[in-house]
Amino acid sequence: MAKRLILMGPPGGGKGTQAKRIQERYGIPQLSTGDMLRAAVSAGTPIGKQAKTVMDAGKLVSDEIMVGLIAERIDQADCATGFILDGFPRTIPQAEALDKLLKSKGIKLDSVIEVQVPDEKLVTRITGRFTCKACGEGYHDTFKTPKKAGVCDVCGGAEFSRRADDNAETVKARLAAYHAQTAPLLPYYEGQGLLKVVDGDRDMSVVTADLEAILGR
Ligand code: AMP
Repeated sequence: MAKRLILMGPPGGGKGTQAKRIQERYGIPQLSTGDMLRAAVSAGTPIGKQAKTVMDAGKLVSDEIMVGLIAERIDQADCATGFILDGFPRTIPQAEALDKLLKSKGIKLDSVIEVQVPDEKLVTRITGRFTCKACGEGYHDTFKTPKKAGVCDVCGGAEFSRRADDNAETVKARLAAYHAQTAPLLPYYEGQGLLKVVDGDRDMSVVTADLEAILGR
């Protein structure tokens, strides 16, 4: 059965990590709009150039750009049996555009899962994170350091990177955007009978187990 889901939750709440695990477990792609934008910024495309200033300020990129990116991505062959939306929709107009888009294709969302993490935990979670440049494995200064300092556990890579927007200042703006513009999506999807909530303030593998219990086999 197709699985089409949205992972919601605040920045630093673990959506990306969990989306990667679901992707591996169920063979459906993670559609991270943040990753798409970062790729556009690195490639220096017109969208990337426009998005960079907005992202560095911790604000939201325009609905028009985001809906365009997702509409194009969902049309690709690997999304035929499902997808995990990670970081989209982030505003009510994006959610409405997504509803319209899926309706025009005769498909429906199966669930919207909110990964809940209290605000006071997010700043530490975000400002400490870094990833292996070669394989993308995620680490954290406090919660998950490489077994051997400076060497990736997974691929042996020795270069790591931190996101430009993972600093204390920008995190505050990102959290404010989440509460003002994205949190209203929770009642929106609850009203559609799609919302499920998972406590994300626990060990990552316990959170994964809860998600798998929701998603089934
Ligand atoms: P993320 O990797 O999901 O934390 O996204 C990083 C940044 O990309 C956000 O702070 C926004 O500036 C931008 N962004 C990602 N997804 C969206 C979206 N659906 N709508 C607007 N801006 C977005």
